[in-house]
Amino acid sequence: MTSRKVFIGNRTAVEVVCPQCDRSLTVPVEKIQSIGKPVRAKCTCGIQFTVVFERRASYRKPTGLPGKFARKVNSELQVGDAVINDLSRGGLSMKVPAGVDLKVGEVIRIDFRLDNVEQTMIRAQVIVKSIRRGAIGAEFHSLEEHTRKQLGFYLMP
Ligand SMILES: [Zn+2]
Repeated sequence: MTSRKVFIGNRTAVEVVCPQCDRSLTVPVEKIQSIGKPVRAKCTCGIQFTVVFERRASYRKPTGLPGKFARKVNSELQVGDAVINDLSRGGLSMKVPAGVDLKVGEVIRIDFRLDNVEQTMIRAQVIVKSIRRGAIGAEFHSLEEHTRKQLGFYLMP
């Protein structure tokens, strides 16, 4: 079943868009019973899907930080340069050199330093979620507690 994520932010009503027919339904925030858990929805077109309401959108910070990626290709380690275009608590988007044929669903290692005073080293495993015109969207797969906290500080608007 398709799942949709809807960010509430500070709105009083949100739009839920059907993944099949793009019809949208306005839901008053006061009617939302559970946050962060999948809720079943049914569209008038007949399909059922789940909606997860989230309190706030993940803040994305534009970065442009240089880093390295590492991945296994046929049990050999491939290492290369990456540029982290933006960062959020949940993930990042980056660029890798042309010819690096990352695949959606692949888990890779990313190392880079934040440009904060401490130059915090971030080492993370990320899972590739999207590839669009050379821009790789990835979610953090495993992140140490310490790193998660450093990232949280870094991302405070
Ligand atoms: Zn529909």
